[in-house]
Amino acid sequence: MDDKKKKLFVPGPVDVRPELLEAFNQPLIPHRSQDASDLQKRISDKLQDVFLADNNQIFLSTSSGIGLMEAAIRCLTDKKAVVFSVGAFGDRWGNIAEFNDVPVDVVEIEWGKAVKPEMVEEYLSTGDYDVFTVQHNETSTGIANPLEEISEISNKYPDVLWLVDAVSAAAGIKAEVANWGIDAYVTSTQKALGLPPGFSMGAFSDKAMERAEEIGHQGRYFDLLTLKKYYDKKPYQYPSTPSILHMYALDKQLDYILDEEGLENRFERHKRLRDMTHEWALDNGFELFAEEGYRSPTVTTVTNNKGLDILEL
Ligand SMILES: *Cc1c(COP(=O)(O)O)cnc(C)c1O
Repeated sequence: MDDKKKKLFVPGPVDVRPELLEAFNQPLIPHRSQDASDLQKRISDKLQDVFLADNNQIFLSTSSGIGLMEAAIRCLTDKKAVVFSVGAFGDRWGNIAEFNDVPVDVVEIEWGKAVKPEMVEEYLSTGDYDVFTVQHNETSTGIANPLEEISEISNKYPDVLWLVDAVSAAAGIKAEVANWGIDAYVTSTQKALGLPPGFSMGAFSDKAMERAEEIGHQGRYFDLLTLKKYYDKKPYQYPSTPSILHMYALDKQLDYILDEEGLENRFERHKRLRDMTHEWALDNGFELFAEEGYRSPTVTTVTNNKGLDILEL
C-alpha cells in the first residue's frame, strides 16, 4: 500500500492531521531567543488550561513520556513509593523506580479491573509511603481509573505526593489536576494530543517542587530542579536544546483544542466514540474486557472470546 494511505490502528502513535505536520516544516529559531521563550510560555499557559492545572508549573521534555515519569518518581520519592498497577504501564512505574534505586512496593491489581479508593486508603494509611502512582488511563487493559474518587482519599494524606501517568488520557479524558490535588500529571504528544512522538509535558504542584528541593538534584536531563530553574527564569527557557518543531505543532494543536474544538466537546467526543466502538464490538460478538463503570473513553479492549489469531490479525 502507498505509505501515504496507511492508517494507524494502534493506541499511539496516532495519525496526525496534515496541518500539524506542516507546523514541523517551518524555519527553526534559536532556543535562547525571546521567540522561543514566548513559544514556551504560550504552551505552558495553554497546557494549564487543558490539564485544568491552575498555576502548577508546566515542564516540557524532549523525550517520550517515560522520561518525565522517571523524573517524577525519582525526584519526588524520599521514603518509599507505592505503585498501583492495573496493567503493563502501571508495571512501568514499578520498574522505573526499581532501576533508579527508588524504594517501591507494587500493588498488582487484576487486569481489566480499576484501582479503587479503598485500596489506596489501605496502603496510604500505613504511613509507609510518601508517593503513590496510578495511571489515568491504562492503555493495555482499557481501564480509566476513577481519579476523582481517589482524590478524596489522597486529600486525607497531604504528605503523600500523587503521581499520575496520563499518557493515553490527557486531552482525551478530563482531569481536574488542581482541584483533585494531583502533584505530577505527565503525558506525551503521540496519543490523545494527536501529535508525532518524541515530546512530553507535565504539570507539577508547588508541593511536589518543595519535595524536590528537599531531596536535591537527581541526575541532570530528567531533573525537576533543573527544569524548574530554567522555567523560573521568566522568560521561560528549557535547560537544553528542545525539539522546537514539536513546540510549534503543540502550540497550534492546543489552540485547536481550546478555541476550535473546545475542551469539553473534545472530552464528550471521545465518550461518544467509545460508545460507538462498544456497540460495534458487542454487535460483532466480542465481550468488552474492562470492568463496567471504568471503561476508557480513549482505548477500548475486547476479550478474544472468538479465538482470533491475534498475530495474524
Ligand atoms: C504509551 C504509554 C506510555 C509510554 O509513553 P512514551 O511516550 O512511549 O514513553 C506510558 N503510559 C501509558 C499509559 C501509555 O499509554
